[in-house]
Amino acid sequence: MKQHILEMEKYAKEKNVPIIETESIAYIMKYIKLNNVKSILEIGSAIGYSAILMASSSKEVKVTTIERDETRYMECLKNVKKCGLEKEVNVVFQDALEVNLTGVTYDLIFIDAAKGQYKKFFEKFKYFLAPDGVIITDNLKFHGYVGKKETIESKNLRGIVDKIESYIDFLKNNDEFETEFIDIGDGISVSKRKK
Ligand code: SAM
Repeated sequence: MKQHILEMEKYAKEKNVPIIETESIAYIMKYIKLNNVKSILEIGSAIGYSAILMASSSKEVKVTTIERDETRYMECLKNVKKCGLEKEVNVVFQDALEVNLTGVTYDLIFIDAAKGQYKKFFEKFKYFLAPDGVIITDNLKFHGYVGKKETIESKNLRGIVDKIESYIDFLKNNDEFETEFIDIGDGISVSKRKK
């Protein structure tokens, strides 16, 4: 298992596939253990790195992970198989915004896909969150660009940063959810329903 994880890290580096930072996945794995999380929905599998680590963090954890890029989806399937986690990790090849879920809820929803669509993902998937569940979002610092828009030359990049900043505002001013922002890795948020 350890060897497979190291190989995935190497592959991600060589092929420029973005994967979660070590500190952030360590935080999520600890959260899973401490809070007895059993069911997880991940938006954005890439090659399965975080899905595999989440699934292996505690017994009885089941992960459904969604990926829209075919090459990454295939690589993800391959990695899940190599790690012997086919029963624990269900990989779905689809755009998350087009996925139809019915009659399921998740203890943890991990948003780690297109940065410009975070709010849409949150609004869509909050209906599938268990009552005491949590929505965790990655990359809220977006490699240090968030809060430093004036230093960015690329219009495209500025647009993404704009969207992340407005997602942060949306979380801060949300009537339904309370959010803690944690300054580890690339910045994560942990949102729970207000009691
Ligand atoms: N969670 C992965 C990990 O840490 O190992 C990394 C995911 S990577 C940052 C984001 C992935 O989300 C990309 O592979 C991208 O193709 C996928 N993605 C982006 N928008 C998506 C969407 N609307 N539906 C499904 N997948 C999407």
